[in-house]
Amino acid sequence: MNVLSVASEVFPLVKTGGLADVAGALPLALKNHGVSMKTLMPGYPAVLQQLHETKTLASMTSLLGEEARLLACDYEGLDLVVLDVPALYDRNGGPYTDVTGKDFVDNWKRFAALSLAATEIARGLLPDWRPDILHAHDWQAAMAPVYMRYTGLQQIPTVMTVHNLAFQGQFGPQIFADLQLPPQAFSVDGLEYYGDVGFLKGGLRTAWAVTTVSPTYAHEITTAEYGMGLEGLINARASDLTGIVNGIDTQVWNPATDPHIAENFTAGALRKRAANRKALADRFSLGDDDGPIFCVISRLTWQKGIDLIADVADWIVAEGGKLAVLGSGDQGLEGALLAAASRHRGRVGIVIGYNEPLSHLMQAGADAILIPSRFEPCGLTQLYGLRYGCIPIVARTGGLADTVIDANEAALSARVATGFQFTPITADGLQVALRRAFKAYREPKVWARLQNQGMKSDVSWEKSAERYANLYSSLLARV
Ligand code: ADP
Repeated sequence: MNVLSVASEVFPLVKTGGLADVAGALPLALKNHGVSMKTLMPGYPAVLQQLHETKTLASMTSLLGEEARLLACDYEGLDLVVLDVPALYDRNGGPYTDVTGKDFVDNWKRFAALSLAATEIARGLLPDWRPDILHAHDWQAAMAPVYMRYTGLQQIPTVMTVHNLAFQGQFGPQIFADLQLPPQAFSVDGLEYYGDVGFLKGGLRTAWAVTTVSPTYAHEITTAEYGMGLEGLINARASDLTGIVNGIDTQVWNPATDPHIAENFTAGALRKRAANRKALADRFSLGDDDGPIFCVISRLTWQKGIDLIADVADWIVAEGGKLAVLGSGDQGLEGALLAAASRHRGRVGIVIGYNEPLSHLMQAGADAILIPSRFEPCGLTQLYGLRYGCIPIVARTGGLADTVIDANEAALSARVATGFQFTPITADGLQVALRRAFKAYREPKVWARLQNQGMKSDVSWEKSAERYANLYSSLLARV
């Protein structure tokens, strides 16, 4: 079965969030399930620099008016098709923003072009390969099912996966004329969204199947509280909606072989975590006493509940705990955490920025990871935490609720608990969970059992890859 995956970021080439991890890992996991997946992604300068031995597969003189080439490249097991459109992608900044952090004003065109290129591949643009199924990720690829529907390719099944409904790709109606779609595409059954053009809205409306990245989030987005205005449409598509939890790359995230940590360890030799704890404490200038080290590895945003962390920082220190934070984002939240760090030198440390190797050391050395997200489609850092014996303390929402088993009395005595969940998602709620974590931490046997149980959890792609493969098969059966 040939599947074309379309994504705006793919680990390890370019990553701003969990989408990249999924787009980079799923094709490899699907190999065992009879799925041959090509991945179409934009040729940002940072991507092209990392690729060697690319081969030009096809050229287009006018992709939405721009010259474009499709380059093939094998990269660490990924079968990539890179869309090289200098006019759209050859610029400084990130995948979506300029060097000052502002969205590129032509993002609609940059990602409509990506989606249109996917459609051309489905139509047969590549010499000897055609997809049986097109799988689009997030708003940046969401125009692909729309183009398929409105340009005569509606017989090829499409899957639209939502990694985060908060990002919808909504643009003014004036862009519609430049999308090269028939007028009927600008309707409630297509792209029209409150008078604007909604890329994700269009993808959700036109894809054969819709998935999101956990069963709980799949349910949550049918409600007004989490639906971000799309709940009506999502409800209408409920019978085509499934939630499939993300896995993680268990080779990249393997404490027994991880090159980024101070000492490798396994569940059978947890005492070796001590060297990582020490390296972490040194890196964040935290003292070397015994109090639990709580870490945070996150975009620093309201979604991630980072204000709640700032609210409980003083209390954590008063209880004898320590806090190590890695992240960047909202300036107000960065400021609140920096202020906590300067109030509590030696107890609260913060590194502003994005640092993949350091994130590994933190999972290997911290005692617990705090994830108080207000909503969380799946979340990956709790999965890394489980794998590294870094106990997740999470808000009971989305994928966090699905992947962490709360250490309540019943789960503890059944020896299945892997972390702590809390609700309501407030500073008080977080504090109640932290109080329970402090108590467990004082009982080394209980703590070690939680770590062991977590390290036994299956966080690999195996089961989820099978679910995607089954979904693809069921769609093909409908053709
Ligand atoms: P989201 O995609 O909403 O940001 P996820 O938990 O799904 O959240 O994925 C976040 C990914 O980005 C994880 O792989 C996490 O380890 C990584 N990450 C987030 N912030 C940082 C950072 N400052 N440094 C290194 N890695 C980070």
